[in-house]
Amino acid sequence: MPELPEVEITARRLSDGVAGACVESALAPGLVALKTFDPPLDALAGRELDGVRRIGKMLAVDAGELTLLVHLMSAGRLQLFDARASLRDRASRILVRLEDGRELRLREFGTQQRAWARLLRSDVVAEDEYVATLGPDAYPPPALDEFAKLVAQPRHLHPLLRDQRTIAGIGRSWVDELLWTARLSPFQKGSDLDEDELSALHAACDEVLGGALAHYEEVVGDTIPDKMPMPLQVHRRAGEECPRCGTRIEAIHFRDYVMCYCPEEQTGGRVLKDRRLSRLLK
Ligand SMILES: [Zn+2]
Repeated sequence: MPELPEVEITARRLSDGVAGACVESALAPGLVALKTFDPPLDALAGRELDGVRRIGKMLAVDAGELTLLVHLMSAGRLQLFDARASLRDRASRILVRLEDGRELRLREFGTQQRAWARLLRSDVVAEDEYVATLGPDAYPPPALDEFAKLVAQPRHLHPLLRDQRTIAGIGRSWVDELLWTARLSPFQKGSDLDEDELSALHAACDEVLGGALAHYEEVVGDTIPDKMPMPLQVHRRAGEECPRCGTRIEAIHFRDYVMCYCPEEQTGGRVLKDRRLSRLLK
């Protein structure tokens, strides 16, 4: 799932690519991807694109008085192509065809159709339900005292940090990296953090998310790849050695994601119960 660093580099590269280009036509072959009908998608035709920016984990394609708000969900990509897609390309969800022959294309991998777009009047984007409810960006993180207030909730850090209403941009990949960097248990409660732990988590937002973005700035060219080269240390690395202390990285499997952590440094040496395993053993 593209999170803040992946969506930010996508916005930067696409913005450089499309700013000033004129839209010839726009269509939605993925019938369920477009969630709004007024204004119609083809209202983009004839407009000049101002650029692409990131709002939380969403992308906003600005075209004068209209904005196409896009959520990639877990498997969507917004990419710029030199030529038009074949209409038989079943991954296509939204096609914004440019007068110069290029095409800005929302594609989605896999069989599910979850990525979506909403065409809005630019002056109401901030009031849109998906935008108005977002907390401040996780990168750059808000000042430490504001960050402390946001996180002071009696909930486990793993879901708390992924809650876009608390802080925007963190998902299932980077939350593992942030907690590992700050040496915090995913099951510690936000309201139980002491000053040092809060500072460590705050610093991790800056270091980890900023580091990922700096990495993408170096390795991602003009074309947004299908698969981002994510510089992960613990996420998706269960069974490997912790890069810091050499302990075996453990994982807890949930229905649709995996949480990875270093037991030595994050959970006081305890290996937490893997719900998937315990269910299988019943
Ligand atoms: Zn470790």
